[in-house]
Amino acid sequence: MSNLDQRITGFDLWHLALPVRSARDHGIGRVEGHCEVIILRLTSEDGTQGFGEASPWSVFTGTPEASYAALDRYLRPLVVGQRLADRAGIMGQAARAVAHCTEAKAALDSALLDLTGQISGVPVWALLGGRCRDRIPLSCSIANPDFDQDIALMERLRDDGVGVIKLKTGFRDHAFDVMRLERIASDFPDFRVRVDYNQGLEVGEAMDRVRDVAQFRPDFIEQPVRAPEFGMMARLRDAIDVPLLADESVFGPEDITRAAREGICDGVSIKIMKSGGLGRGQIVARIAAANGLTAYGGDMFEAGLAHLAGTHMIAATPEITLGCEFYQASYYLREDILQTPFPVVDGHVVVPDGAGLGAVPDIDKLNHYAARRPE
Ligand SMILES: [Mg+2]
Repeated sequence: MSNLDQRITGFDLWHLALPVRSARDHGIGRVEGHCEVIILRLTSEDGTQGFGEASPWSVFTGTPEASYAALDRYLRPLVVGQRLADRAGIMGQAARAVAHCTEAKAALDSALLDLTGQISGVPVWALLGGRCRDRIPLSCSIANPDFDQDIALMERLRDDGVGVIKLKTGFRDHAFDVMRLERIASDFPDFRVRVDYNQGLEVGEAMDRVRDVAQFRPDFIEQPVRAPEFGMMARLRDAIDVPLLADESVFGPEDITRAAREGICDGVSIKIMKSGGLGRGQIVARIAAANGLTAYGGDMFEAGLAHLAGTHMIAATPEITLGCEFYQASYYLREDILQTPFPVVDGHVVVPDGAGLGAVPDIDKLNHYAARRPE
């Protein structure tokens, strides 16, 4: 029996409420007080453990209650008792057993890969095809309704060597967005700037506002209008000469195929919480690249465990060239859940070398922040 022939015997869940440092506003909604994530721990016959995180946002992907139920009620019976060697078969069954709930499937894929890597003694990136980069440029989002607090954050980011910021727009009024872009250009000229509306604009107002913002020459402008507005996305793309990125419009491989066919974007934000796993995120990136589109490593309101899974995916996916936004563990949560700090050095995420995901959650912290925990 190879080590991967052993069965999965343990399946434990934590539902966490993690305190955050400030409110953050986006075109589709506000985060305040805390964010909620679900942690999955798989255990194999020899006692090895693998971890995954589901990081839903109710206005974007789904609810934490849905992620918990998908894992606890619908996916658990498909996983416990299965051989670890049959990972692709387990994920195929999971895809058919539950519609949507992509965050739950991402947590399962991550935990299976972590467990396989732990047992095999190799990093998750090695299981995904091998490494193409060992550092990933970090972007931090600017989304505080109190812009003075964001100015203090940008000063800290500059001191830390972070060179990329993403300004969240479309949650108050256009004058507020223009004022902040002007202030960033004058006081922080060294930052590379991206703009993300998170669907915040109505179709009737989007053309004038996006053209206006494009004059600031950001790296890209992301998802100005609501996810289903493919036609308006295509018209906006044609009207501006900076790249337009799709985020909420593109979850999985089917969406990026349609997005490319209908010409709605120049690039796509790829998130394992949208694609439903690391391998499916790689597929989105490859379909994008085959259609001449770029790709960016986005995230949800995540803790360090989900950041790690995304890091391994980007490390093994040459097509994701625009960096990542795994900033929450370092700059937004009051306390992360990993035993060791999520690795950020000089404004770059450092790809871990250790087996599996390369770091593990602190069980005491999981229990401390748990609204629900294993018996
Ligand atoms: Mg976005």
